[in-house]
Amino acid sequence: MQKPNIYIFPQLTDNYGYLIKNPHENEGAIIDPSDLEMCEKILKLNDCSLTYILLTHHHDDHISAVSDLKKKYNCTVIGNESDELLPSLDLKVKTDQEISILNSKYRIISTPGHTMQHICYYNKDHHLLFAGDTLFSVGCGRMFEGTPEFFWESLSKIKLLDNKTLIYFGHEYTQSNVKFALSIDPNNSDLIEYGKWVERQYLDSRPTVPASLESELKINPFLRCDNSYFKNFFKSTNPVEIFKKMRAAKDTF
Ligand SMILES: [Zn+2]
Repeated sequence: MQKPNIYIFPQLTDNYGYLIKNPHENEGAIIDPSDLEMCEKILKLNDCSLTYILLTHHHDDHISAVSDLKKKYNCTVIGNESDELLPSLDLKVKTDQEISILNSKYRIISTPGHTMQHICYYNKDHHLLFAGDTLFSVGCGRMFEGTPEFFWESLSKIKLLDNKTLIYFGHEYTQSNVKFALSIDPNNSDLIEYGKWVERQYLDSRPTVPASLESELKINPFLRCDNSYFKNFFKSTNPVEIFKKMRAAKDTF
């Protein structure tokens, strides 16, 4: 199976959109389109028409270009069958379902927490995860609808994926995430090194996406709520309790 190319493009203030396209083909899929002009630009730059739209969740900054793109390209819009706030869907999916998009398979992983119906799209063959606002580099999404139990369980599912997985996340928040992570984990040498790389990326106006799961497991505090360091730091043995405290600390950081 051919590995698809993933083209990263900025949307709105700090959102990322992704175009999935196979080499030598002229059909594409876009994840979470919110900026019509940028979506059209990336399609044109890659000489590509839009066949699919994949949605992770119902927030405006992930869906606001859907209806215009649908009108123009008549593409198939895909999202969680139980997310009633999504624009009208052509293909309704549910957890653990596998869908075939442009000759690649994607498994739907249900990840409640940021919203209750949030889903991620996982391509096992090519180790790709489109994580929306569930997981960011060195951080995770705000807990708008879920509970710490749900959110920690969602992150635990991601922790179990192949550690070669590259994570394509929804927002460029990495610099501020690193600052928070260093405030609670200041001696983590992997995090310190990563922070230096992030600074260089920002200076060069480069994205920090994709993040590798292997690296995130060492530096992302929200994936490490079951680690003895944070058990000690937050004085609890319960990862859910630790997640709750960590998320609350980040919200007011
Ligand atoms: Zn969101």
